[in-house]
Amino acid sequence: MVGFDLDTLNRKFTQEDPEKLMEYVLEKIGSSKVALASSLSIEDQILTDMLLKINSKARIFFIDTGRHFQKTYDLMERTMRRYEFHYEVYAPESKDLEYLVSEYGPNSFYDSVELRKKCCELRKVKPLQRVLHTVDAWICGLRREQSSTREEIHLVEWDGNHSIYKINPLAFWNEEQVWEYIKKENVPYSNLYNTGFRSIGCEPCTRAVKPGEDVRSGRWWWESPDKKECGLHLSKP
Ligand code: SF4
Repeated sequence: MVGFDLDTLNRKFTQEDPEKLMEYVLEKIGSSKVALASSLSIEDQILTDMLLKINSKARIFFIDTGRHFQKTYDLMERTMRRYEFHYEVYAPESKDLEYLVSEYGPNSFYDSVELRKKCCELRKVKPLQRVLHTVDAWICGLRREQSSTREEIHLVEWDGNHSIYKINPLAFWNEEQVWEYIKKENVPYSNLYNTGFRSIGCEPCTRAVKPGEDVRSGRWWWESPDKKECGLHLSKP
């Protein structure tokens, strides 16, 4: 695997457009060993647009938890048609789902943080691990201002959980920049955003938020803010 000097890279790309960082990573690591994780959020849609303009064969994957909004699947269709590409799709193991639902019921995520994390682990984290075994770097749409758990993310990080690099090209973007890009490039996005949703995940665990509330406050709203990650983005150094 290529060795990056993280401090140097983070300094170098702070003033650059996100595309420049992604171009650099694709060139240094090789496009077959880099993949964008897309949940079809507005940030991921921007990165999809940018990435496919850089390389129309770039790898973009979607974790199909089986609990997404129908509107998310509709957007997936629209995005595939617009850019003429296919997502790599990773789904939970059937034996994991059979165990989870048989043992704890279909909506156990509301019962405790532990059961919510178990559901995220089986539906999201384990499928994610399968795809991350195939790459040296993954690209994510995280932004610092999204939540208290993301305030210190960098453009390029070492993901100690998966032993690969993690690239956050939009780390320093604010919400205004996000919408400017979406409108300027006519990027397809979920119309859930037009009805108060500001961060979209699985349907039973996502709700609309009020103006002024934290972007991620509509996710697992029954839990305290410091627990609101699903395990996909919890990195150890
Ligand atoms: S977000 Fe909710 S439904 Fe989706 S995997 Fe996590 S707990 Fe399960």
